[in-house]
Amino acid sequence: MLLKHLLRSSLLLLLWGVHLLGDAHILVYHRFEDPRYPTTNTSLQELRKEFTYLKEHHYQVVPLFTLIKALKHHQTIPNTWVILTIDDGFKSFLKALPLFKEFHYPFTLFISTKPTQNRYPDFLSWKDLHAIAPFGQIALHSHAHPHLGDLSDEQIKTDTKQALLLFQQHLGYTPQAYAYPYGEYDQRVKKIIKSFGFEAIANQNIGAIAQTSDQYDLDRIAMVGRANLGQALRYRHLEAVWMAPSHYPKEGILHQVKVRISPWYHWGWLYVTGYGWKRFPVRKGVLQAKLDYPLYKSRVRVIIKVKHSKINTKILIRSRYGAQ
Ligand SMILES: [Zn+2]
Repeated sequence: MLLKHLLRSSLLLLLWGVHLLGDAHILVYHRFEDPRYPTTNTSLQELRKEFTYLKEHHYQVVPLFTLIKALKHHQTIPNTWVILTIDDGFKSFLKALPLFKEFHYPFTLFISTKPTQNRYPDFLSWKDLHAIAPFGQIALHSHAHPHLGDLSDEQIKTDTKQALLLFQQHLGYTPQAYAYPYGEYDQRVKKIIKSFGFEAIANQNIGAIAQTSDQYDLDRIAMVGRANLGQALRYRHLEAVWMAPSHYPKEGILHQVKVRISPWYHWGWLYVTGYGWKRFPVRKGVLQAKLDYPLYKSRVRVIIKVKHSKINTKILIRSRYGAQ
């Protein structure tokens, strides 16, 4: 009887565990209620709709650092966690702030220090940032918002040092998180940014955050216009080892994609910027695709997707400094 009870409760625990073993999602916004820029704008009406959706579906909006703490301690990441981030520090964030306050939703605002320091009218001032600080976290998004792949190691360091200096001078502390401008990075860029000691580094690759995710390589889903939040929250993290390509191909032709995933999968979908989705077989846990795709853009996303919306993204950036 006792054994039966024990078995039943452990089964329940197991099921509960499986249920909870979802992935968290980090969303990224840019501008609010600013129809001049449709590709980066979210209307307040849309934002309210999304916030209401999160509330009604019992998602917990948690600070980025709640997630980082869980990752550091290898804790289970509840699939109800959502982290809200905003890039660039546009003035229009002031229009959205009352909604964040109304829903008691924390946020991380990634700012570039140059436009703030130079008082560009479209950007938040230091005074604005002081007023915003009690309600969320303010973090770094470079100084001059450069394409980091186009900069030498020294230039990346100079931009970051300048940003840290201004941030510290005006806000009085060192930012703990960094988001790559344009979401663009490679291993060289990552290594340099990481060397500054940030606790978290965010990209802009579609994906979700699992227990095994790298706190220095956090995927974020861009929310623009009438984004499909329901779909975004269905994404799960796919464990993947990228064997090829390791970086943007020198001759500009993507010859093959080779990714190790679980042998449980027999098929996977592959997306390459400019070429759309295509289905490929997975053999012994490896999705290998011979392609010969000429790449026309200097920034290319390669995405692997398997059933249950499990996804893993790699960004390739053309850089004359190459990957290390
Ligand atoms: Zn940006």
